Amino acid sequence: MNRRKFLSYVGCGCCGFILNSCSTAPITERRQLKLIPESKLNAQAAQIYKKVKNKEKLITDSKEISNIKEIGKKMQKSIGEYFYQSNLPDPTVGFDWEYILIDNKKVRNAWCMPGGKIAVYSGILDVTKNKNGLAAVMGHEIAHAVAKHSVERASRGVILNTGTQLIDIFSGGKLSQVNKATGMNTVGLLSQLGIMNPFNRKQESEADYLGMIFSSLSGYDIRETPKIWERMKKINKGKAPPEFMSTHPSADNRIKKINEWTNKIILDYPPINIS
Ligand SMILES: [Zn+2]
Repeated sequence: MNRRKFLSYVGCGCCGFILNSCSTAPITERRQLKLIPESKLNAQAAQIYKKVKNKEKLITDSKEISNIKEIGKKMQKSIGEYFYQSNLPDPTVGFDWEYILIDNKKVRNAWCMPGGKIAVYSGILDVTKNKNGLAAVMGHEIAHAVAKHSVERASRGVILNTGTQLIDIFSGGKLSQVNKATGMNTVGLLSQLGIMNPFNRKQESEADYLGMIFSSLSGYDIRETPKIWERMKKINKGKAPPEFMSTHPSADNRIKKINEWTNKIILDYPPINIS
């Protein structure tokens, strides 16, 4: 590595001192620090996902869950195809996609665990309203997983020495401890294990951007995206924002950015042909 290149690495802010742990987010090419092996995090997430499925009331037979699965399948295929056609490494290799709909009207949320384990709460369906809206939310959540934001967050935790809990997760300690605790709901379980802790603003913005790209590649109308945030804003008026929005100090700023990106994404990332 020559000096200039080295300096450019050191200067990147996120990975100055551990050079070989440095990588970049797909498409946006934002530099990321990755210390914790993705496979470990995925395996851990799959275990927690299993627990969520056992604990929560799931809707397994409805138009909504069919829509979620249909959108998800289209999206996973389009993402794979996009990276293949672009001759880029597919970040979703090793994903084991799965989709559930949790029967809970009070929770307006959705998440995608590392490795492609997705959950939608029935409460958010009042906001998404239609397939394009649902694709917008799913695209955003899937983008967090595709861009490996959890790996990045966990790695930062290690660096900042606040990662003891996460290290404990890998050894199985935390999980067995939580198992013993009775009456803890899965939302509590998830946040305790760091799955639903807020991402930072850069990651949120990146998830918005990549999510729109994935929606567009999958053939959904991303002009619906700002509309769901408008609806979310309306519903939340005067109340504390749900977790899904809690890391966003300004919904208006987010909507503004989304509007700025829309036309270019529609042009640059048209629906990809999947057989
Ligand atoms: Zn997010």
